[in-house]
Amino acid sequence: MSPSPFALLKQDALHHDQADPLASFRSRFAYPKLHESNTLYFTGNSLGLMPLAARESLMQELDTWSRYGVEGHFEGPQPWVSFHEPFSDWLAPLLGAQTQELVAMGSLTANLHFLLASFYRPSSSRYKILCEGSSFPSDVYALDSQARWHGFDPAQAVVELHPRPGEHTLRTEDILAQIENLGSSLALVMLGGVNYLTGQFFDLKSIAKAAHGVGACMGTDLAHAIGNVPLSLHDWDIDFAAWCSYKYLNSGPGATAGIFVHEKHLGKSDIPRLEGWWGHRPETRFLMGRHMQAAQTAEAWQHSNAPVMNMAAQRASLALFAEAGQDRLHAKRESLVRFFLQGYRALQQELPAGSLDCLTPESISDRGCQSSLVFPGRGKRFFDWLSQAGVVADWREPNVVRIAPVPLYNTHLEVWTFLDLVRQGLSM
Ligand SMILES: *Cc1c(COP(=O)(O)O)cnc(C)c1O
Repeated sequence: MSPSPFALLKQDALHHDQADPLASFRSRFAYPKLHESNTLYFTGNSLGLMPLAARESLMQELDTWSRYGVEGHFEGPQPWVSFHEPFSDWLAPLLGAQTQELVAMGSLTANLHFLLASFYRPSSSRYKILCEGSSFPSDVYALDSQARWHGFDPAQAVVELHPRPGEHTLRTEDILAQIENLGSSLALVMLGGVNYLTGQFFDLKSIAKAAHGVGACMGTDLAHAIGNVPLSLHDWDIDFAAWCSYKYLNSGPGATAGIFVHEKHLGKSDIPRLEGWWGHRPETRFLMGRHMQAAQTAEAWQHSNAPVMNMAAQRASLALFAEAGQDRLHAKRESLVRFFLQGYRALQQELPAGSLDCLTPESISDRGCQSSLVFPGRGKRFFDWLSQAGVVADWREPNVVRIAPVPLYNTHLEVWTFLDLVRQGLSM
């Protein structure tokens, strides 16, 4: 019997991996060994792997602390007073932002609240927020509580978008129509850049344009987008954005997050903020004046001095992104996605109809690394079986298995091996 089209793809995987210009980056990460079998780590969308250089980077700051004490703010290889500053240079290309438009700070949900304090200022007629029906819980809790904080009933104020019956993802035309429909009652559109559940990458540019067209603001949560898909926040005219950095950015659990505020909002005195001393102009911050003089950059939204120990790991990770370069990262992401889709389709041919389904859009421009798979009739036990076989993926109720092969440390062969395990499991 000749090998199946799916089996033949294994050779293609090996060829792709041999030609991969980023192949050497794989050896610069630590691989957990969670089961007997070799680990296939596909949860870069949840907690990225540890760059080996993170340890050294952290040790450097511990050395500075032990050697200089308080003087570490001004001494050592990377003085702490300006510790956060180079992060903007590293993050700008990932976001398509100017360095003055962003700052690494805080945690994602808290940052969302601080940004909403500035950009969600509802009136009695314009108070609605449009978001995804399958928003990440923290985001929708934040939006509901913001509505209540301003005296509105979230059931009235927070409007959710749902796919058409029988469809998994949102159509851009339907999002734009809903914005039109809400018109002058709409204060804010708040969408994930990439939806955490389906992996859909939204057309943020068109959506921002429509939001502005009815006089609303556009914000986006980039938790699943940064370090994953190409972004042009400045050119797309996004008003504000927030992200976390422990997912695709491999910066470690609870790592320092970040915010983006569009250039057009910087230095404006008519935008209120909830402020702190690290938002003061850096040149005169230490004069400890009674009145805040806000920085003219996104740093105006910053509150506290940098959590150096936490950011040290992120510094090591962002250096890897800079070294790999955006072009090579996106080329490999696309290659991994195309190869996954090829294998997935071959598998669909081989298995009984309806054995597996994918919620994520197929078009490269509508998705990132993540694929959200459904195995009808299989449930959590099938997921547990995959885990025992070495697959580190995640399970989202009621029946979604998310996998995210990432360009810095995953290979085409791992993608094939995963699909082959799925094939074996579904044939049992
Ligand atoms: C991961 C994630 C969060 C997590 O929020 P934290 O404040 O970092 O705990 C929030 N929103 C989205 C969309 C996420 O993907």
